[in-house]
Amino acid sequence: MSIRLGTSDIAKYPFLREASEYVRQTGFGFEEFDRPEMQYIVDRAARRIEQEIVTGQVFDEFDERTEILTFLISLMIVKSLGMEPILRKYSLFESMRAEKFLVRDLEQLKSKNEKRQLLLFKIFEELFKVKVDIDTTDSRLFKVRVVDYLLRASHFHEQEWKLVNRLVHGGYVYLDADETVRLIRVELSALIYDRVKEMSIPSVPDAIKSRTENLKEKLRPYFEYRTYKVSDYPPCVKHAIEVMNRGENLPHSARVMLATYMLAIEKPVDEIIALFQNAPDYNERITRYQVQHLAGEKGSRTRYSVPSCDKLRNENLCFATAECSGIINPVQFGRRARNNDNAGR
Ligand code: SF4
Repeated sequence: MSIRLGTSDIAKYPFLREASEYVRQTGFGFEEFDRPEMQYIVDRAARRIEQEIVTGQVFDEFDERTEILTFLISLMIVKSLGMEPILRKYSLFESMRAEKFLVRDLEQLKSKNEKRQLLLFKIFEELFKVKVDIDTTDSRLFKVRVVDYLLRASHFHEQEWKLVNRLVHGGYVYLDADETVRLIRVELSALIYDRVKEMSIPSVPDAIKSRTENLKEKLRPYFEYRTYKVSDYPPCVKHAIEVMNRGENLPHSARVMLATYMLAIEKPVDEIIALFQNAPDYNERITRYQVQHLAGEKGSRTRYSVPSCDKLRNENLCFATAECSGIINPVQFGRRARNNDNAGR
């Protein structure tokens, strides 16, 4: 390939190896973040994190001159904050920010196939080992090998992602730019998460330290680390609550299981919603709608039942213990013990 990524590309995708190389070549040292002229970038990085965490909206300002350093400083601030739910949410929103740029680039550069192929190579192939090609007959479409598609899309619950609903030909699935990029959201988010985790900062510059303290106070009310007791629940439900308590992402099917179980044992909707507050993609309005939908209060007005143990086993959501013996649905968990207790009274 004869072309290379320019500064503007690196600014849009600052997680690429080229961005670290760019910073290294400038000979920039951490101590320089304390210089007065850097204050603007430190503030911008803090604003970026605050917007993504508090409002749940992707930070879509773009300033080619400062973007790479803004990203680097925001990683340092998130690392210094040391709050797991913030790191997870930040990683997710940064991956969604890159997604927006990438979709735009893949759609707008239709006449520049070499440039598009380079972006596909740098982001999909180099980072995640997924080969994506531009379709030769319709340059708006991209082709991904079926096996690569299934590895990713099988985690999406919407019908449109099922293989039977896709255009498949010659071992490839054909997708538009938006769909192609959506495939790697989880991996991109994990890559940014790992960058922060692996980052080693020998001495945090004072300017970043003070901005971090300030941000910590602002974000504390949103991310007081909430944990919920898991004592009497079946192992599958316990596991889901523990994942939520750690601020990790829970698959859609596990969220449905958790919510329907809580509805079945008559937990109030507000308490169920609160269980999801540590999720990286938590949005109170959407969660409320989804829980009310499962409760039969919204949408189809059908009250959903708790999935059976068989179904949960098939979805790798079962963590059976001896106490699960003989039950076919999580709502039966503990009933026998309770019945025996009552009989003995
Ligand atoms: S056997 Fe049923 S209740 Fe027990 S962990 Fe598995 S799915 Fe949950």
